[in-house]
Amino acid sequence: PTENKHDLTHVASLFDMRADLVHGHPYGSGHINDTYCAYYDQAGQRIRYIHQRLAENVFKEPVKLMENVGRVTDHAFNKLVEEGNPEAHRRTLTCIKSTEGKPYAVDKDGSVWRTYPFIERARTYDTITSTDQCVAAAKAFGEFQKLGADLGGEPLFETIPNFHNTKVRFQTLIEAIEKDEHNRAKDVAKEIEWFMARVDEGSKVVDMLEAGEIPVRVTHNDTKLNNVMLDDVTGEGICVIDLDTTMNGSAVYDFGDMVRTATSPAAEDEKDVSKVTMRMHMFDALVKGYLSSANAFLTDKERELLPFAGKLLTLECGTRFLADYLMGDVYFKIHRDGHNIDRTRTQIALVESIDQQMGEMEALVQKYSV
Ligand code: ADP
Ligand code: MG
Ligand code: MG
Repeated sequence: PTENKHDLTHVASLFDMRADLVHGHPYGSGHINDTYCAYYDQAGQRIRYIHQRLAENVFKEPVKLMENVGRVTDHAFNKLVEEGNPEAHRRTLTCIKSTEGKPYAVDKDGSVWRTYPFIERARTYDTITSTDQCVAAAKAFGEFQKLGADLGGEPLFETIPNFHNTKVRFQTLIEAIEKDEHNRAKDVAKEIEWFMARVDEGSKVVDMLEAGEIPVRVTHNDTKLNNVMLDDVTGEGICVIDLDTTMNGSAVYDFGDMVRTATSPAAEDEKDVSKVTMRMHMFDALVKGYLSSANAFLTDKERELLPFAGKLLTLECGTRFLADYLMGDVYFKIHRDGHNIDRTRTQIALVESIDQQMGEMEALVQKYSV
């Protein structure tokens, strides 16, 4: 898109910019929010900011979401400054305050906006082309968790309730099977049986969190490569972005979702499931990167869960695809008949691939834990 759907002059007036808007344009390849890059003149210097309008159909409580983001980014920035990090302003997102001193502003139509300084000399990548990128991204997500580890205060607002509650996810699937509103269960009897054999595994981490065996942490919950800015020169992961789903949860959810989204060469909806495999060199890169920053704060129990985490998050995603198929494709957009079954089958294939390689995965976690 090249046209501005929104009046950026109005948006600029809502924030304490201390600079004059020159021009702005739609930016990035995000699918959720409306993102703009805007150039400002600040005493003769050109500087860029990101203005983002939160998708109101997706986020029902945008103000509470932004209070989470404000708390987490303030804490991260202060900590980086205290540690003497010379690049604190590049190592975390920071919210430009509104004219009312808030980390967000509400425009004349009632939409919620936020403004971030533009992270310069770095970019995001939509596809992974090297294991180095995997190491860098995983390290950055570990650093993000590390910065949030001592946040303190009230729990964060649960922006998307039960987002990674795999117990509830399985329950939702079971209800969809029982209702079978579209008479589709008969087409997926094998898949249903496969998931029903794994219900117990689905509650493992949730039960451990509830029992206090592993800690509740600040987690990102959307740990895709394209949510990390990699430095243009060094390739290092310098800043984690896209904090909309930042909530409290288990550290292993973030790691598990990296394994789910980064280790298989096949698309999530690949019809030929023989192409779906957990590639060990990618897992190696993820463990290496993640533990280089997270090893210091993870508990032994969390570390032990890392090989299982990829399986758990893949199971979770599979239950969502299958339940959505049974409910008539109401959540995930479909582009062909049976699209959500194809997606379900890739998740099954990935779990099976992980199962076959579990011993080697455990050995790698051991190797990078010392
Ligand atoms: P979405 O939730 O829609 O994916 P993101 O927050 O990931 O939105 O932002 C979309 C794109 O905008 C990112 O992929 C990134 O390239 C760019 N972007 C977001 N924040 C910044 C920033 N502070 N500095 C530079 N680029 C950014
Ligand atoms: Mg994003
Ligand atoms: Mg997002």
